[in-house]
Amino acid sequence: MSASASSLRPDVVVVGAGLIGLSSALKLCQEGLRVLVIDRDEPGKGASFGNAGYLATELVNPLSTPDTLRRAPGLLLDPHGPLALPPHYLPALMPWLLRFTLAARKKNVDQSQRALAALNARAVGAWQRCLDGIGARDELIASGYLMVWEKKNALEQARRHQAQLNEYGIATELLDADAVQARDSGLSRSIHHALLFPNAHQVSDPYRVVQRLVDAFKRAGGVIDRESVENVAVTHEGVTITTDQRRIEAGRVVIATGAWSSRLAEQLGLKVPLEGESGHHLTLTDRAGALRQPVGSAERNVVMTPMTCGLRVVGFSELGGLALKPNPKRSRTLKHHVSALLSDNHGVDQARDWMGFRPTLPDSLPVIGQHPRHSQVQFAFGHQHLGLTQAAITAELVADQMMGRAADIDLTPFRVDRFEHA
Ligand SMILES: Cc1cc2nc3c(=O)[nH]c(=O)nc-3n(C[C@H](O)[C@H](O)[C@H](O)COP(=O)(O)OP(=O)(O)OC[C@H]3O[C@@H](n4cnc5c(N)ncnc54)[C@H](O)[C@@H]3O)c2cc1C
Repeated sequence: MSASASSLRPDVVVVGAGLIGLSSALKLCQEGLRVLVIDRDEPGKGASFGNAGYLATELVNPLSTPDTLRRAPGLLLDPHGPLALPPHYLPALMPWLLRFTLAARKKNVDQSQRALAALNARAVGAWQRCLDGIGARDELIASGYLMVWEKKNALEQARRHQAQLNEYGIATELLDADAVQARDSGLSRSIHHALLFPNAHQVSDPYRVVQRLVDAFKRAGGVIDRESVENVAVTHEGVTITTDQRRIEAGRVVIATGAWSSRLAEQLGLKVPLEGESGHHLTLTDRAGALRQPVGSAERNVVMTPMTCGLRVVGFSELGGLALKPNPKRSRTLKHHVSALLSDNHGVDQARDWMGFRPTLPDSLPVIGQHPRHSQVQFAFGHQHLGLTQAAITAELVADQMMGRAADIDLTPFRVDRFEHA
């Protein structure tokens, strides 16, 4: 868009330039709309910057299940465990925790599983269409994925997991210790068995994907401005967006502000129980070739992905609010795990660390839907551990809704007001 065109009233303002906002903005641009993206930071510097780069389409179980609740006390007490609930934040977290606990009821788990499976089954196809459309297919890699176990007595657990995934049509192969080494000698010999997901995909580096989306969006005429959105209000003609610098009149708005979305939703009359679930990563910059494919440890709850920027190791989940600062203890925990899982720990001490906030709702489903009373307001946030996986399919569904087309999946489980009467 030229300077004069950029001053025209946008058809759509997308608030938030993470993977969800950018992929939606690109799709809307491709639909012929005049789109302005606003972010208070550089594009892609939120959760989208530092994720594990893995399209985790096999993750169809919600975070809250009877099994998670049973294991939670042990995970909280384990000094190298993957979970933390800082005591100072517990009073503020209680309503969310209550909803999270209720989400473990069978009926709710079944519903979340069906909804996640429907999104995830379409996720890779949507990324292929998105990246093909902008000449960036090289960012998507048919890598396969290994889920590993070190304990001999966890073999039955792997078999049960395999049987469950089979029901969702997800192909896996059970590998013994020798087969694991034959597949990937970068892994420690302490791995006893693994499930190989031969059809799994990763990206080269999620931040590179962000940059390719930004370039394509700008080439298609889109504009990105760096401002902080303070208020969103509906008007007769559309929406008014107030930033720290100006007021913008637009036809419609998409709220895609990740873990920070509940404040804007509340301004529009909707209470959404969204929490920022912090996660950490380490990047071992000179170990890009350390592994053949992404590897997840079922017992240690970490994922290691070979990327163009190095070997990325992610893990940890801390529900401590959005004011939480990076904690060196979490990086030490990740170093402990990666040293145990790799065949050698070269580069671990020099690893770069990072922390980001996953946007997480108690039922583990994102919000993808219009405001129940104001169709000019669209929401797309809350993708928890799966925002990279689900970004391109979310963008297609957002475009379907905004262009008045019927989606090919049931969007009821993703509606923004589902918590109002729950
Ligand atoms: C450690 C870790 C590992 C992960 N691994 C994976 C993985 O392997 N696979 C996977 O699928 N997912 C993974 N995820 C999850 C995934 O990264 C997130 O779900 C996804 O990035 C969320 O994208 P988003 O665009 O909604 O949010 P974000 O990327 O956080 O973007 C939100 C944007 O909104 C902006 N914003 C907020 N408020 C305002 C405001 N008022 N005004 C203007 N701008 C505003 C922020 O600056 C930010 O840029 C991981 C997450 C973490 C933390």
